Amino acid sequence: MPESSGSPANARSPYLGYTLGMQDPDCARVHPFITSRAAGSMKDEEARRKALSWPGFEGRPAFHLRQVHGTEIVAVRSSVPPSPAPEADGWITNVPGVVLCVFVADCMPICMWEKSGKAIGIFHAGWRGLAKGMVSEAVKAFQTHYGIEAKDLDVRIGPHIGKCCYRVGPETAEQFRPQARIEREGGIYLDLVMEAAMALVESGVDSMSADGRCTSCENDKFFSFRREKTDSRMMAFITLDPK
Ligand SMILES: [Zn+2]
Repeated sequence: MPESSGSPANARSPYLGYTLGMQDPDCARVHPFITSRAAGSMKDEEARRKALSWPGFEGRPAFHLRQVHGTEIVAVRSSVPPSPAPEADGWITNVPGVVLCVFVADCMPICMWEKSGKAIGIFHAGWRGLAKGMVSEAVKAFQTHYGIEAKDLDVRIGPHIGKCCYRVGPETAEQFRPQARIEREGGIYLDLVMEAAMALVESGVDSMSADGRCTSCENDKFFSFRREKTDSRMMAFITLDPK
């Protein structure tokens, strides 16, 4: 572990997690991360405590959701986490120093921030959340709460189950754009990133990128609900440094 400099930028560990951020000075205050399999299941309080005490994150209050595969997004206005945890699938805030978290294992963690760091958000989206419009709701939330326009947002999608592995039934597939459905070997495979990217473009977002790693293919690094039928989860999280 590197010594703390007070910024999560130095908290990177090749064993316990990955940064999802770009090395872009414009958003140097924004830090999106995901834990790896080696850090343990983030459903476990002790593993979670350890991850959140990485240099730079220590002392920052962590906000957790009870995720329900919906599109509800909570705006955080203070550094005190709500109790009980809200039933929702996304957070946004302009409060520096809080750590907004979602749990994932195959579903997409979607990190969004205003390019100069005016606000940040994190969203949990599997096929249900995507089909219900989580992406456009997330973009709208930045506008509603902070007057931020879609063109000023940057988006980073974390590791999730890829089109290589995500076979779905026809009744699921038909809820998605044709471009996001791949028919092969007698089955239909869903491309979650394609669906999310098209929804982002429709919402006016022009800056986005995705981590290409598949949680099922790279099961040594990540938990995969599909592959393992596991209750274990990674945690994706985002925080904003004070100015
Ligand atoms: Zn795969």
